[in-house]
This record gives sequence, C-alpha cells and structure tokens, in this order.
Amino acid sequence: MDLPVEKWAAYARRRWASLEPRLQQTLSLAVSLRDTFLLCWPLFQPADEAFLHSLAARNWVGKDPRAALFYKEEGNKRFQKKGYTAALILYSKAVSHNSPEMSLCYANRSAALFHLGHFEDCLEDIDRAQAQGYPNRLQPKILLRKTECLLLLGRLQEAAEVISKVESKIAMDQSLPSTTRQILLRKISQLKVKAHEKENSSVSVPEALSKTQKDLEFWEENGKMSSAFSSVSLNFNSCRGRHLVATKDILPGESLVKEEAFVSVLSPGKNLLLQDSAETTWDTRVTNGDLHCHHCLKRLLASVPCRGCSYAKYCSKKCVQLAWEHYHSTECPLGALLLTLGVFSHVALRTVLVAGFAEVSSLVKQFHGDDKELHKAEARGKSQDETRDSTAGMEGLSEKAEPLIPDCEDDGQYRGSYQAVFNLLTHAEKHSPEHKFLCSLSIVAICKKLQEADLTILSQGSCESQSKLKAHMTMSAELSPELKILGEAMLRHMLQLHCNAQAVTSIRESESGASVVADSEQVRLATALFPVTSLLNHSCDPNTSVTFSGTAVTVRASQPIPRGQEIVHCYGPHRCRMGAAERRQRLLCQYFFECRCQACLDELGSDVTATGDIFCCSSCHASMQGEDVLRCSSGACTLLVGRDHLLHQLWDLQLQVRTALGLLKDNQPNQAVELLMRCRVDAENFLSAEHMLVGEIEDHLAQGYATLGKWQEAARHLRRSIQIVEARHGPSSVETGHELFKLAQILFNGFAVSEALCTIQRAETVLSVHCGPLNAQVQELQEMRACLLELPRSLLHRVE
Ligand SMILES: [Zn+2]
Ligand SMILES: [Zn+2]
Ligand SMILES: [Zn+2]
Ligand SMILES: [Zn+2]
Repeated sequence: MDLPVEKWAAYARRRWASLEPRLQQTLSLAVSLRDTFLLCWPLFQPADEAFLHSLAARNWVGKDPRAALFYKEEGNKRFQKKGYTAALILYSKAVSHNSPEMSLCYANRSAALFHLGHFEDCLEDIDRAQAQGYPNRLQPKILLRKTECLLLLGRLQEAAEVISKVESKIAMDQSLPSTTRQILLRKISQLKVKAHEKENSSVSVPEALSKTQKDLEFWEENGKMSSAFSSVSLNFNSCRGRHLVATKDILPGESLVKEEAFVSVLSPGKNLLLQDSAETTWDTRVTNGDLHCHHCLKRLLASVPCRGCSYAKYCSKKCVQLAWEHYHSTECPLGALLLTLGVFSHVALRTVLVAGFAEVSSLVKQFHGDDKELHKAEARGKSQDETRDSTAGMEGLSEKAEPLIPDCEDDGQYRGSYQAVFNLLTHAEKHSPEHKFLCSLSIVAICKKLQEADLTILSQGSCESQSKLKAHMTMSAELSPELKILGEAMLRHMLQLHCNAQAVTSIRESESGASVVADSEQVRLATALFPVTSLLNHSCDPNTSVTFSGTAVTVRASQPIPRGQEIVHCYGPHRCRMGAAERRQRLLCQYFFECRCQACLDELGSDVTATGDIFCCSSCHASMQGEDVLRCSSGACTLLVGRDHLLHQLWDLQLQVRTALGLLKDNQPNQAVELLMRCRVDAENFLSAEHMLVGEIEDHLAQGYATLGKWQEAARHLRRSIQIVEARHGPSSVETGHELFKLAQILFNGFAVSEALCTIQRAETVLSVHCGPLNAQVQELQEMRACLLELPRSLLHRVE
C-alpha cells in the first residue's frame, strides 16, 4: 500500500517490457544505484511525464474556494444534527481551502469545539475568525461565546472585559433588530450571573487537570547506542548480522528502546487513493490527513492548514513552521505527485530533505570513495547471503577485518543519525528488475520536478552554496551534479524501505455507535524509519511489544528476557496469526530471508498443520481433516465435505458478521444481536469452537448487549471471546489485554464490583506490560478502580 498507485506501477511494467533487451540487461546488471539512476534518467520521456501527471491530477491538493463553501455547508448540516465531531472535521477541511468566508468557517468551528468541551481551542479559533475579518454585525455572538469559554476556564477578569466590550457594541449598533438585541442582552445578564457565582465560589479551578506528561520510568541511557536503554547491547556476528542482546535479566514491561523517527510520512489512508471517476465532487470522507498532524502525527482538533496546499494540516503553528523549514516548502508544490507515487517515494524524498544536502552529499561521496573495496565486498557478500538470513545488518561488510560493529561512528557509538539510515540494507540485488525500474522511474519523476522548482531548501548551509545550487538547478535541463546525488540517495532509501519501513500504528476508537464499550481498531498512521529499532531481528514469536506515541516508538519486553538472550520483534507474520509455511513465504517475499525462529523450527519439525482444526463435523463436532475433500476424524462418522464448500460457507458467514457490525455502528443493536445469534448457530455447525470468527461473533454480541444495557449477557459473551483469544494468543498477550479491558468496562457499568476490580487488575497488568503505564486504557482502568473503591462499603459487599 506504500508503493506507487497501481496504474503507474502497471505503466512502468509495460515500459519495462518494451525496453530493448540489451538495455534491460544493462539495467538488470547495474551494480550501483548510481548507475541505475543515471540509466533511467533519460528513459523518462515527456509522454511518461504526461501520463504520470494525468494520474496525479486526480489527487489534486490545491485550494479551491468552492470546496471551502461545500465543506462549510456539509459541516453546518452535521452541526445541526449535533454531530459536532464530524462538523469539526468538515470545518477543518473548509479552512484548508482559502475562501472569502474563512472567518465564518473558523467561527463555526469554534462553536463545534465549544460543544465538544475544548474551550482553549475554541478561544484560538475565535481569535482566528476575528483575524480573518469576522463581520461586525455578528461580533456580539462570537464575543459571547468567548465570554462563556473564559468563564468555564476560570479567567474571570478577561471574561468581564469581553462582556463590557459586547455591551458597548450592542449599544452602538443602531441597525440591530430589537429581538436580536433583546436575546443578546438576556444572554449577557445570564453570563453576568454565572460570572458572579464563579467569583463567590471558593472552589478554585483545579490545576490538577494538567497531567504530568513526564514518563516516570527510570531512563538509563545506553552509552553505546542512542535511544536504547542500558539493559541492551548491540552485537554483531555473520549469522545474525547486527542485533540487540539483553545485558541483564529483563522483566516484562521494561522499556528497551525509545526512539524518535528519523523521518515519518503520514499515510493518506484508503480513502485518498485514486478513484476511477475523475469528476467526483469533494469528498466528505475522513482520512488520516484530516485526523492527524502532518508533522508530529498528534490527533488534530482545530487544525492549522498549510498556506500552500489543502492536504497538509497541522496541530499548531509550530508544526507548520517546523515542517515548512525542514521539508514541506519543497514537498508542498509536489503534493499530488507524491500521493500518486506512494508513501515510499515520499519517505525517500523527505529523508534527503530532513538530512540536508550537505549530509547526503558527504555520505554518497564517502560511499563511492571506497568504491573498490565495496565492490569486492558486495561480490563476495552474495555468496554469503544464505548464511546471513534474518538480519538487518550492514551492506557488504561481512568481510571487513575489524571486529567493530558495522556502521558505528568513529567513537564506537551507534546513533540514530542519517549515517545509520543511509547504511540500512537496500538488498538491491534481490529486488526484481521490474521493481527496481518502477522505483527508479518514480524517483526520476520527483527529480524532474525538483529541477523545475526552486531548491533553496536543500542547502541550508552557506548562502554561497545555496546560490550555487540554485544556479545549477535552473540553468540546464541536464542532470545537475546535485540531483545526481539526491536521486541516487532517494533510490537507495526507496529500496531500503521495502525491508526497513516501520508502520506507525495507533488504536482508534470508533466514533459511531452509542456503545459505552470501546470498539477500537488498530490503524496504520504513517510509515517511518527508526534506525535503532531497525536493528531488531525478526521472530514469529517475539519477546517484545512495540507501541507508538506521535512519531516516537517504544519497544518493551513482553515476557521475561534472561541475560544474553537476543531481543527480537515481529515484522508482521506472527505465530498466532498464520501457519509456519505462510509466514516463511511472506518473510522471504518481503524481507528476503528464511525464518529460522524457534516457533518456525518447532512447527516445521512437528506434523501439526496450523490449519488442521479449523472446520468441524456438522453431526459429531469432531475436527475435519484432509486436503481437497475433508473427512470427519471420528471413526464412527463417514461424513465427507469438499473444502471449497466449507470455504464458501465461511465466506458467507464472514459477510453476515460484517453486516451485523454495520448494524451495530448504525446504532441498531437489537437487529445486530438477532443476526449475530443466527451467525453463532451457523458457526457451531461447521467451525471449531476455537475459531477466531467464533470469537469475533462473541465479541460483537457482547458489544450489542452492552449497548442495550444488558450487562450480564454482555459479560457472558465476552468471557467466551476471551477464552478463544487466550487460547490463540496466550493469556498475557496484548490481544487478551484488549478483551479484558472491554470486560472491565462491562462489569464496571453493570456494577459487578468485586469481579470488575479483579478484571481491572488483570487487564492493567497485561496492558501495562505491552503499552506502558501512561497508556490511555491503563489510565482509564485506574480511574475505574478509583471510582469503584469510592463506592459505599455496602455496595462493595452486595450479593451479585
Ligand atoms: Zn503537530
Ligand atoms: Zn502544503
Ligand atoms: Zn519464524
Ligand atoms: Zn463426525
């Protein structure tokens, strides 16, 4: 999903197929990425450019006053139906397009923020509305909102000042209709009463609301490796490449690595991908770009738009400025092209922009400086690859004589610097020539655009080099030496991302539905490069958990790790989600190694096939076995069923469950529960009791009953779901933790006090190991407990 859009990929494949065989061969054999890039540069013809830009036109990210008007009106519709969150997002879309009505859009958004209880942000939007020339006749209305915010925030003096300002405005304005005047005056007197009450109440505004954001964990930084704790060390050998090892016995939940992304790019998400109808009017669907800051990935409330495009939205002026200084001034005019070329191309560009031209240039030159040695090493490296599986080691360094760990700086330190990023493995020789060609052509397309553009941002160094660079870029249509370097580096990064890209994920609670029980899903927010976290090797049965906060990653031990054991995480194919054969296939395809983790060895050694016990006999419930035709495993039964038939049945059932989920989201819990109960009966007929789909049905049933306030039924179904999740993922897995969290919510709401306390304890223990003590769910659990413990004793000892 991070690759270029399919139409461009298909175009590049056709282009590749039409190349002369000799040119194909030259490209396939090109040893260095510089050669590949230089060979592709002249191949990108005006016709290719025209095709690419016709695709990009559909991702247009410019500003359009008509779009602003459209989103404002859509926002108003939601606002009137009290859909304040949706309205807020739509008003944000509106302000990202310039229009003469900007002040009204900000004012409306301030109203949505007010209803959602975000008073500080509301005040900011009121100021923005006024700065944009909010009409005089509407001033009293917005000033009264301001007064209310100030009162609610306890800023009484300021509130009083605003009130007197409104009063004088009303007094001066002769054109005000008398009814409006009366309404306003009544409102003012109400606010005055409120202000008076506030003044006399002895309760001061609680300062405690501002939670201490400081992590209480003890941070003992590693002397040799930035971002890592002293409990891990960086090791290297030819078999595992670079890898991390525990230097002491580590307890579950201990932090091992805390790292800021070197670079991260927000994924546009499914909704922004190319649609076939080019004429669609503006889209009201919500994407990652509407929900998260383009720069720091924080959840957006009152977003600040980029001054140049309608795509990039930020959490604050500070982020606007940082992004602009470091990369967005170059990216902004390329917005549509970057959306078309995909997140990997985008990350590749941003990486060189963030690193700065001087840094990129020095590393590229250094790389070619020991050209000879590297060529030798690369040639030899190939024969060694079979033994260097499962590594994220260093390119072509297996033969270096020094015992030093590859890519540490001169003082022996490994830093999450551009140097570390630059030296991540590209596996250039393992990508298919077609894939390399697609990447090269995409990078060439970016370079052509960079050539046209004003590139002052690239050299943040001296003024002299800036003007020199600019002259080079604009003077000739030829490939400038600077672009040669940048193009090669970007191609390098794009190939590295294949194996080293880290998906930044976040748990997003669903906005719809009225259930008090969290219905959350994991969503992919961004793609990032973390040079230190990249040192971790893969295991299908990892001993760590990875969580994200903004653009930072934390790696924690998910189980006890004895001193000397390797620290590993899972690149995606996890033991609990698929069988060994499938996992190994995927890892080989994407990461170019054959997994030999313990889980794989165990599974391949035994005869147990992971898919063995999915289906069960409809008459005796014993498991069904076989390949194309399955036979009941109990001797007494002679039932035979075709696999295709069972797969169809499974597919139908999945469809029904999805329909039920839709009903839940549409706030129709009764219908959803009814449908799910039927699904449950169907499932019993042909699926084993431990099947994940059975677990999902139970989980959704619990949600449905919780929405209806039937807490006991909800708890009963959820306990069954927990059993299935536990059997599959283990009792201390994060998956079990999430289910326990839901059960805690249900029991809490159902006043099943003692069981709730017990479940809260279990959920908290499991979740804080994986997600740390500051995780939102962990904090909510603690609040639930505090609340239950404050209940009168009689309730605590109530018979349940
Ligand atoms: Zn931000
Ligand atoms: Zn922009
Ligand atoms: Zn494995
Ligand atoms: Zn049977």
